[in-house]
Amino acid sequence: MSDTHKFQRRLAAGECLFREGEAGNCAYVLEHGRMEVSTERDGSRVVLATVGEGALLGEMALINNQPRMATLTALEDTSLVMITPEYLADRMETADPMLRHILRVVLSRFREVVNSVHGGRRAGENEARDLSEEESPENLDQRSALKRLQVEHDLELALERHELQLYYQPILRLSDKSVSGFEALIRWHRPGVGMVPPGQFIPVAEQSNLMRPIGYWIIETACRALKRMHAESRKLVADAKLPSMSINLSVRQFGDDKLFPIINNAIQTNELDPARVRLEITESMLFNSWDLALDLLNLCKQAGCRLAIDDFGTGYSSLAYLHRFPVDTLKIDRSFIRDMYENREAGIIVKAMADLAMNLGMECIAEGIEEQMQGESLAAMGLEHVQGFFYGKPMPEDEALAFLAQSLQADR
Ligand code: C2E
Ligand code: CA
Ligand code: CA
Repeated sequence: MSDTHKFQRRLAAGECLFREGEAGNCAYVLEHGRMEVSTERDGSRVVLATVGEGALLGEMALINNQPRMATLTALEDTSLVMITPEYLADRMETADPMLRHILRVVLSRFREVVNSVHGGRRAGENEARDLSEEESPENLDQRSALKRLQVEHDLELALERHELQLYYQPILRLSDKSVSGFEALIRWHRPGVGMVPPGQFIPVAEQSNLMRPIGYWIIETACRALKRMHAESRKLVADAKLPSMSINLSVRQFGDDKLFPIINNAIQTNELDPARVRLEITESMLFNSWDLALDLLNLCKQAGCRLAIDDFGTGYSSLAYLHRFPVDTLKIDRSFIRDMYENREAGIIVKAMADLAMNLGMECIAEGIEEQMQGESLAAMGLEHVQGFFYGKPMPEDEALAFLAQSLQADR
């Protein structure tokens, strides 16, 4: 309230708010009362309008620094709220980026028109000015909003154009380096841009409505690939231990009634043992939508799927949820493995997490192993499963099948 008060102006009847030709630096919204808008023509005053509550006055001052184009006089006791450029800038800062961008573009186009009408800068001159200000926050904002819009637009077509692809990264048993499963990781081959990593487009999909259809496609594609992997395994070794498939879920998929039937259907259509399908979620996803997550994950659990906590140790890490949630697997985040040598504490934490998983009867997977030494240290700690570039990078389906076949043949 005090803010409003600070920006309030009161005028008695007959008082002038501003005069034609004066410099303006703010706009006003008429709160109570009535005002007359007038201009001087050939030495006499001409009334252009009478305005009442809610009218926006002097807004051109926010668009460019044009002098006031008319005189505003109170016809009765009147109160107004001042809108300063700083106030507007503050509001814009917290607005939705797309809304902000649209507003900026509309304002700048309007400014251009006003300037050319009023004999100020002509449109061409404005263009030159915009280019010279290329690195201003406004232009950066504009570029990132446009880029976002383009990504969103192209992503919408990516599914039907078959530009999305799943890669599969092997997860190995540390004891004998055999393949225990794969994690499905999405890739986007964006024409004219190349391979776009998921970190650059999953957030865009999440913020639009695209995560649902993309999520369905991920589940169906990963389950089909798992069926092929199982067939390949059985072909090579009759009683082979069948690999599992880890599928990442997005927080946007919680609360989607269709998701569980899609998962169930993909499992049945491909005749998979549901225990071979592992759904990965992060700790922060859990905490941001606890109830929705619990509903979905309980359904998946009842259907026989496995659940993994991804990036374990990087979220809120409240251990309390571990016994309230039907978790089977902890995935120790890559950052702990990376820091294990420089930072003794990181190593101690890895060991504590592995022990925690073991004591709770869960599986534990260490992520991001890039060097042999890391694998050896983890083996000494009793860790069972590893995933990382040292053992295998994410690869297309055919390569993953060949990787699996090689592992099975080595095992025989
Ligand atoms: P994540 O689920 O933690 O996936 C592991 C990421 O670590 C992958 O990155 C993988 O390529 C990378 N990685 C694996 N081993 C190593 C290593 O030894 N060293 C290093 N430096 N990196 C390693 P990617 O594929 O870029 O995925 C990044 C994130 O994007 C994923 O993190 C996941 O959060 C998300 N994501 C990927 N695919 C999907 C998907 O299909 N659905 C959803 N919802 N999210 C996905
Ligand atoms: Ca993951
Ligand atoms: Ca992870």
